[in-house]
Amino acid sequence: MKESFDAIVVGAGPAGCAAAYSLARAGLDVLLVERGKFAGVKNMTGGVLYGPVLNNLIPDFWKEAPVERHVTRHVITLLSEKTSLSIDFNSTGLDESLQDGYTVLRARFDRWFADKVEQAGGVVITGVRVDDLLWDGKRVVGIVAGGDKIPAGVVIAADGVNSALAKKAGLSARLSPENVNQGVKEIIRMPRELIEQRFNVSGDGGAAIHFLGFCTRGVHGGGFLYTNRESLSLGVVVQLKALIENNLKSVELLEGFKAHPTVKELIKDGSTVEYSAHLVPAGGLGMVPRLYTDGLLLTGDAAALVLATGRSLEGSNFALASGMAAAETVRRAREKGDYSQETLSHYAELLSESFVLQDLKRFQRSAELLENQRLYSVYPELACSLAEKVFRVDGDPKKTVWQLAREEMKGRVSIWTLLKDALAARRSV
Ligand SMILES: Cc1cc2nc3c(=O)[nH]c(=O)nc-3n(C[C@H](O)[C@H](O)[C@H](O)COP(=O)(O)OP(=O)(O)OC[C@H]3O[C@@H](n4cnc5c(N)ncnc54)[C@H](O)[C@@H]3O)c2cc1C
Repeated sequence: MKESFDAIVVGAGPAGCAAAYSLARAGLDVLLVERGKFAGVKNMTGGVLYGPVLNNLIPDFWKEAPVERHVTRHVITLLSEKTSLSIDFNSTGLDESLQDGYTVLRARFDRWFADKVEQAGGVVITGVRVDDLLWDGKRVVGIVAGGDKIPAGVVIAADGVNSALAKKAGLSARLSPENVNQGVKEIIRMPRELIEQRFNVSGDGGAAIHFLGFCTRGVHGGGFLYTNRESLSLGVVVQLKALIENNLKSVELLEGFKAHPTVKELIKDGSTVEYSAHLVPAGGLGMVPRLYTDGLLLTGDAAALVLATGRSLEGSNFALASGMAAAETVRRAREKGDYSQETLSHYAELLSESFVLQDLKRFQRSAELLENQRLYSVYPELACSLAEKVFRVDGDPKKTVWQLAREEMKGRVSIWTLLKDALAARRSV
C-alpha cells in the first residue's frame, strides 16, 4: 500500500463511494476505508434510490448495479386503527427514462459500488475503523486507523450520521431528539410471483408505499413498504423526541404496524430474514454544520444532508451528490496544490448551485410543519372515517360528501385549523 494518498475517504456508503469513485476516475491516488467486513454489510436505508444523480456519474448504472426493482407504483396510504385510504400513482405507462426510482438492498448495492471504486483504480480497505484524524497544527493531514498513521492531502468524511470524524474536527451537526429520526426495518422474504401478484407489478416493476397515521400510533413519523425482487423492505421511521415523550419503542411500533389489517394482508406468507435499526438526520438546513476546514470535507449524513419533507425521505441522492461535489473540489485543490479551507470552500459553492443546498433551503420550514401532530393522528383518522361513510350504503337517505366531511370534522378539527394547516403545508411540502 502507498505511504501517502492525494485523498482518503472514510466510509463506503453512497457518499464515500461516489467521492472515491470520482477521484479515482480523475486519476488521483485515493484510499477508501470502511469499518464493515465489506461495504454495505451493516448499512441501512428504507430502500428507494432516486436514479438521476448516480446516472450522471455512472451512465445506465442500473443495467449493471444490483438494483432490485424499478419503482412504477408510488402509493401514499393513510392508516386509522383498522382501515386505510390510499392514493396510488402508477407510472407503468411512462417511458422508462422517466421512472427514476429503484429499490436497493444496501448490502449488495454498496458492495457493488465499492468494487467500482477499485476497478477505477482506487484502493479500498474494509474491516478497518478510522479512529482519529491526523493533524499538523490546525490542518487535517491524514487519518489514524488500526494504529497506523496514513497521510493524505485531504480527508473526506463520509462516515454517516453521528460522524466521529466531524466531531473530532469540531464541525459536527448538533444531533438532538428533535432533529433525528430512528428507523427500524425488516426484510421479509417472499416469492417473486407473489410480490408481483400482490403489488400489481410485473417484470422489474416495483411499488413504494408510504404510510402515515396509525403505523406510528399517531406520533411524528411514518411507515414504508418497498418491494424488492424476492423480498419486501418494511419499516417505520420515528422522531426520537416523539419516541421518548410518548414512551414508545420503535420495535413495538413496527410490530403494531405489521399487525395492522391492511399491512398484515400485504406481508402475509412472508418470512422475516433480517432486522436493522439506524438513525437518520431530519433537521433540514438548520442542522447542517460547517462543511469543511483545512484538509477536511464533510459529506452525506456526516453533514446532515438529508431532505425530510413528509413527501419523502431523501438521503442517498444527497449523499451521492455531496460526495461528487467533494471530489470535484479536491480535484481542483490538487491542481493548485492547496488544501486550505479557502480552496475547499469551493465545495460549499458547488452544493449551493446544486439541488443539495437549494432543496434544503426551499424546504427549510418542513421540519416545523412535521411537528404538527394532526398530520399523524387527526388527518389520517379523519380521511379514513370519511371514506368509510362515503363508501357505506346502508339503506338510509344519503348525505353529500361535504355534509359527511363536516360531520366527521366535528370535535376533531375546525375548518380554520384545517385551512391554517393547509397553508403551512403549501410552503413546506
Ligand atoms: C430507516 C431509514 C430509511 C431511509 N430511507 C431512505 C430512502 O428510501 N431513500 C433515500 O434516499 N434515503 C433514505 N434514507 C437515508 C439514507 O439511507 C442516508 O441518507 C444515506 O445512507 C447516507 O449515506 P452516507 O454515505 O452519508 O452514510 P452511510 O450510508 O451511513 O454510510 C456511512 C459509512 O461509513 C462507515 N463508517 C462509519 N464510521 C466509520 C469509521 N470510523 N471508519 C470507517 N468507516 C466508517 C459505515 O460503516 C458506513 O458504511 C433512510 C435512512 C433510514 C435510517
